[in-house]
Amino acid sequence: MIDHAESESHPAGLDAMLAARVQELRSAGLFRESQNVVPLGDGWCGIDGAKVRNLASNDYLNLAHDPRLVAAARAALDDSGVGSGASALVSGRGPWQVRLEKKLAEFERMESAIIFPTGYAANLGTLTTLIAPGDTVFCDRINHASLVDGCKLCGARLRVFRHDALDVLERELKRSPSDSGRWIVTDSVFSMDGIVAPLTELCDLAERYGGFLIVDEAHGTGVFGAHGRGVAELTGTEDRITVRIGTLSKAVGCLGGFVSGSQALVDVLRNSARTQMFSTALPGAVCAAACQSLDLISAEPERREQLHRLADLLRRELAHFEVPVVDRTTGPIVAVVLGEPQVAVAVASRILQEGFLVAAIRPPTVPRGTSRLRISLTAALQETDIRALAVAVARAVAGQSM
Ligand SMILES: *Cc1c(COP(=O)(O)O)cnc(C)c1O
Repeated sequence: MIDHAESESHPAGLDAMLAARVQELRSAGLFRESQNVVPLGDGWCGIDGAKVRNLASNDYLNLAHDPRLVAAARAALDDSGVGSGASALVSGRGPWQVRLEKKLAEFERMESAIIFPTGYAANLGTLTTLIAPGDTVFCDRINHASLVDGCKLCGARLRVFRHDALDVLERELKRSPSDSGRWIVTDSVFSMDGIVAPLTELCDLAERYGGFLIVDEAHGTGVFGAHGRGVAELTGTEDRITVRIGTLSKAVGCLGGFVSGSQALVDVLRNSARTQMFSTALPGAVCAAACQSLDLISAEPERREQLHRLADLLRRELAHFEVPVVDRTTGPIVAVVLGEPQVAVAVASRILQEGFLVAAIRPPTVPRGTSRLRISLTAALQETDIRALAVAVARAVAGQSM
């Protein structure tokens, strides 16, 4: 017999504990509620009935609402339905999934490619498949949570390094056992700072110590490099990186993650990466839209060029107003570190009143004491938008320190 008195007391006790946790988050200024943001396309969104510029999206190339992507998805919906119905190995890998993997391999100029349900799943599945418990994995201090989780879950010896102190990384590499795998894992663009990782130096170190380098181009694909193949293309390191991971959810404007590389790499991931094997495949319509998007990324480099022009202009304008932008950054992510979470939230809400949605980023996403504004630009904007944005940001930041 089930003792009802006992089985009911636990949920009540848990609820009280959870309520206390929520209260703790609230008093630390760290409680988050997702806002109801209505996507309107072309860099606009609706909040509380107002139409504002969306600078809190990763749709860098303004492709998520492109009519050609929408048409491609709609046509595929008609023949492939909404859901894919199963994981890739069971029956979820149909013509659109196959076409997208082929297109990704071509786009990345690699032998083969494999898609995952999300970029998060691609990172987790790839790291846990390739890195063995006896290996040593070197993870950058500000890598994305999905890479950190992969580094922890793979069971290898974990060493945290800093991309701005590579002599320390080298010392650690030298000290690590040479008879097991050494893996260096990094974002190509650190997503909360807009800093580009030193891929050339990391390739040098990986080669010097017989290690492997895994690079996550989540914010690189479509944005950096003459053809949009990311920071790897920009730095000429494509052939030196062991594994390249990307997402279809950001500049590509769709959803999903991918890994490109040799046929052997893709075969192993398809047979062993748990986040791919035990999760339902991307819908055909999403794959069709992603195929169309990759074509546009190749055919319309002006989107990328416009994005970088706007980013350079914003940095110049903010420097003119003496707004403390994170140093040594380039590209569409512009971070302004403000310190305490309450300050970041207050400044972001003042900027919203001026018609610009920017993200207030707080712990645990960034280290304590470094809460910040994260402005992500999109190619949909014009120079006049950037000038108005810089004034709004400068005014809100200055108002804070007065
Ligand atoms: C967003 C992001 C991911 C996750 O990609 P999704 O497709 O959104 O799951 C992985 N790595 C980095 C660096 C990211 O910024």
